Amino acid sequence: MKDLEEVFAGLARSTFRRRFRLREPERKYLHDRGMDVVLSHASRFVDERLAPAFPANDGKQTPYRHHPVFVAQHATATCCRGCLEKWYGIPRGKELTVEEKQIVLAAIERWLSAQAGT
Ligand SMILES: [Zn+2]
Repeated sequence: MKDLEEVFAGLARSTFRRRFRLREPERKYLHDRGMDVVLSHASRFVDERLAPAFPANDGKQTPYRHHPVFVAQHATATCCRGCLEKWYGIPRGKELTVEEKQIVLAAIERWLSAQAGT
């Protein structure tokens, strides 16, 4: 598994990943609900949509908008197991470990914090 600094350095060089931004409704949602609540949603999304060995609709399970975490997942390449394998070195076909979930959530939090501060 790669470390987060390495992953973020790569994301910063990706034209596709760099393009993602929170839109006004998602920014407002984050502001109104607060980071802790939004991160608790992130934890649930990861458990339900990403953590299983073979998630439903893998590759298409993460919408592109309507929740700040979804946008963060595309921006940080934590949107599906294919991206997790490519960007984080986390292999497909097995359930995510506690450590792997933690790095996914840390990536989402780091990106959301940066967006909230801009
Ligand atoms: Zn993906």
